[in-house]
Formats: sequence, structure tokens, C-alpha cells
Amino acid sequence: MRTGDIIGYGDPEEAIEIRDAPVPDPGPGWVRVRVEACGLNHLDVFARRGHPEDDGAFPKRTGCDISGVVDAVGDDVDPSWIDETVVVYPGVSCGDCEYCLNGEHTMCHDYRIVGEDLPGGLAEFVAVPAWCLESRPESLDAVTAAACPVAFTTAWRLVVSAGELRPAETALVLGASGGVGNAALRIADRLGATTYATTSSPAKAAAVEPFASEVIEYTEQPFDETVAELTDGRGVDLVVDHVGAETWQRSIDSLAMGGRMAICGATSGADASIDVRSVYQHHRRIIGAPMGNRQDFRNVLRLVADGTLEPAIDRVLPLDRLAEGHATIENRDVVGKVVIDLTA
Ligand code: ZN
Repeated sequence: MRTGDIIGYGDPEEAIEIRDAPVPDPGPGWVRVRVEACGLNHLDVFARRGHPEDDGAFPKRTGCDISGVVDAVGDDVDPSWIDETVVVYPGVSCGDCEYCLNGEHTMCHDYRIVGEDLPGGLAEFVAVPAWCLESRPESLDAVTAAACPVAFTTAWRLVVSAGELRPAETALVLGASGGVGNAALRIADRLGATTYATTSSPAKAAAVEPFASEVIEYTEQPFDETVAELTDGRGVDLVVDHVGAETWQRSIDSLAMGGRMAICGATSGADASIDVRSVYQHHRRIIGAPMGNRQDFRNVLRLVADGTLEPAIDRVLPLDRLAEGHATIENRDVVGKVVIDLTA
């Protein structure tokens, strides 16, 4: 089968190789999926650039957002899954610890991600646990379904299940043109909240404008100052920050008294320097939400299937242009998701 593997650290053109690899066999409890489409995330870029928890082993096969057709099942799996069109929840956990039993699979100490800790979907076939399968709603094509798992499940967690945003509240979403940011903005807007969105260019501003009460071009003026002006000095109830070191203090300073900052990433760096008084003196809370659980995934997929939410898809590329997909995400040259079409 054809795969798009990362063979070392470096720039996309040299670090990514389209290779031939054996088709995986599903073990007990697992299935094999013939991949139709696979969405890219910053995780794919981090695997190629390196990050502190990286094991340094190559080749790596990333790709967390998988949609396709079940083509074989291992022992102990219901054979009626064969030929079923599916979308894959990319989290794998033990199923038996206090967190798993509580439905919080991403808190499991054995939590692993398909496409990060396990071989991913940037290949013609991938093996995944049957537990991860969700039947793909008929209203969703493979590309749209592959745009959803990581970005929308994380965004749902950030805004709804962990962020607890209410319709009468205000939310600020940073980097609202990227995958998670764009999904979070759309969810907050659909919820009825007043939304503010930051972007870096007029072209991106135009793309997020339908979902934002105000678009803030942060290159013009520090965004916390703009938020203060827009809210008469009050601040917002929820900030969604996936940027990290570069934005943390301004994000905290954008919050109202008692406001929440929900975080899921550190693309600009993890060593944030903050004034801790700006948190406790204002009764503010910082909430980690790295990914949603299995039920968050099912909830958000249902809302995409019925048209309540729609993922932004920046571009669809064949596997042999995977390097181009990496480069556009790394350069922040996207509005929404980059999806690889494995059938092309
Ligand atoms: Zn567990």
C-alpha cells in the first residue's frame, strides 16, 4: 500500500516520503480501514519538526483524522462492521481505569492517539480498535468527515463541555482561521454567544467574519486592548487559546472577572511567563482541554451531520502532495482544514 511517511526531521519536501509498506493486519478487537480521506493537524507538523515528548524514532506515519470503509476485522469484532463506512475517533485508552470508567478517555494514563502514538491514516489502510469506529452519517462525504475528529472534538471540549459557554456570554477565539480555532468559533457562534475572533490578515478576517460579532486583526493592535474597547472594559467570559507562550498574558488580561481560559495547545511555545496575580485576583480559571472524549466526538459529529455545524475545508490534496499540506499548515496559510484524499 502507499503511505505518506515522515522519514526524519526537516522541511516537508525532504522529510516526507511517499513509500510502499505492508498492509496492516488487525489484531483481536481491532479492524482494518481502507482510508478514503485523512485530515491534517498541527500534530503532523510537530512529528516532522520534533517536540519535547517525541521519541525520535523514524519512520513515523501520522494522520489522526480518518474516514473510510472497514475492510477486515480481527478476532472478537462483530463482522457486520465489514464494508461499513466509518469515521474514526483517534483516541485509544485502557477502558478500565477510573478515568475511562468515568467516560474521560483522554485522561487515561494509557491514552494513545492514532496518528501520533500509533500508525495513522496517511496510508491506504490503517488498523484501529473497533471501539474507535463511528458509522459515518450518510449526509457526510469522506472529506467532510475527515475534517471533523480532532478539530471539532477538541473545539467542543474547549467551548462546551470544559469551557461551559452560555448563550448570553462572550467568547474570544484566538487564531480563528485554523482548524481548532475555526471550529471553536463556529460552535460558540452557533451556541448564540457573542464572539470575538482574532486573525492575522484581511483575507482570513473575511473568512471568519460570518461567525464573529467582531474580527480582531491582532497585527494592528494588541488584542486585549481591542477586547477591552469592545466590552467597555469588562472583558470576555471565555477565551479559547491554542497559541501558548505568545498570547497567554493577553488572553488572561482579556477575561472578565471570573472568566475562563480554555487551552489546548502551545504552537508558539510552552514557556509562558504570566503574572499569577492576574489570575487569582480576578477569580479567573485556566482549563486544560487537549481533546474531547468519545461522547464529545459523537455529539459534535451529529451536529455536523445535520448541518448545524460545518467544517471549513481549505483544500483537498492527493497523497503525493502531502508535503504541500504540511507546508500550508506550518505557514498558517489556511482557513480551516487540509484534507488528504487517499482515493485520488
Ligand atoms: Zn483508562
